[in-house]
Amino acid sequence: AAEVIDGRLIAGQVREEVSVEVAEYTKQTGKAPGLAVVIVGTRKDSQTYVRNKRRACDKVGIASFLFELPEDVSQGELVKVVDDLNNRNDVHGILIQLPLPEHIQPEEVLDTIRLEKDVDGFHPLNIGRLCMNGREKPLFIPCTPKVNLPNHYMNGDVLAVDYNRYDRMFDRSKLQSNRFAKQLPPARPDFGSHVPPQGCIELLDRSNVPIEGKNAVVLGRSNIVGMPVSMLLMQRNATVTVCHRFTDDLENKVRNADIVVSAVGRAGLVKGDWVKPGAALIDVGINAVDDPSDKRGYRLVGDIEYEAAKERSGWITPVPGGVGPMTIAMLLRNTLEAAKLAMG
Ligand code: NAD
Repeated sequence: AAEVIDGRLIAGQVREEVSVEVAEYTKQTGKAPGLAVVIVGTRKDSQTYVRNKRRACDKVGIASFLFELPEDVSQGELVKVVDDLNNRNDVHGILIQLPLPEHIQPEEVLDTIRLEKDVDGFHPLNIGRLCMNGREKPLFIPCTPKVNLPNHYMNGDVLAVDYNRYDRMFDRSKLQSNRFAKQLPPARPDFGSHVPPQGCIELLDRSNVPIEGKNAVVLGRSNIVGMPVSMLLMQRNATVTVCHRFTDDLENKVRNADIVVSAVGRAGLVKGDWVKPGAALIDVGINAVDDPSDKRGYRLVGDIEYEAAKERSGWITPVPGGVGPMTIAMLLRNTLEAAKLAMG
């Protein structure tokens, strides 16, 4: 049977490491790393996420600043808030809690965040750098997991952005004319080493799962999970197959996989008997299934048939308690990295 990868334990280790470094940073610079959290409207789930993130900051000694804006705030006003935060030197990371109300284009807001403060890793330049071999490494990688990007941003599978515009942006020589140019930090070819591998990769690494040369199958290709995870696995020299809703014969893809990362959101999608013996299974999916025996009437499960898969696999993450706890831990670490970056 598999080794169960304990996400709570590993996230706890990461937080512990971050808090040691935060203390060191604070001692040396005389001020704590700072994270600004911007929330628009009164969604209960968003408020819970924000509260949890701020509490986690508190515990490791990161200062957090909350900006609560009314549901009907205009896009221009929101951009102005972000711009002010870009210029504050006690704020090292900026997090916009998603989803934003319908009348706001989230990419317009996210694109305003200075690259060096983009601790969520959603800025198109950070994503672009993640995808391009031999260019500068991204400053931040999406914390993966991250919940609730609104559909008008994600549009299911299709990125609701103009790729040509981003293609132009990646060319440094043409950057002078666009507004991102002034945000670009000087080239630092070694910067990647400062960016720790995130979420899912961290779980694999800390469980000593070999990645190089392995067949990795990623289910899902969203901007927040599937796509960045597959890029990271490729950078670690895995042979990556990315599957999505149009993929034919998922079963055979999974049968060949030494590593499976599933980020679809469909309970029981991956059958236990598809699993290659000894494979590592990272289950990002979160699905509520009816369960009359639970007082809430439901319980949470992943995409992978846990009990059956556990028998065959070498490593497996539970849901809950696997990938989920890593989000905030990665956010804290990115905020610390952003603060260090600001100090040069
Ligand atoms: P998404 O809806 O944006 O993307 C789902 C992806 O699954 C799409 O790329 C789609 O093509 C693919 N897909 C759909 N049906 C499929 C099928 N039958 N076979 C193969 N691929 C299929 O979702 P997301 O934001 O990437 O999140 C994915 C899942 O991960 C959700 O369950 C979400 O709740 C969960 N999630 C968990 C965490 C966490 O903390 N553990 C964080 C973020 C997301």
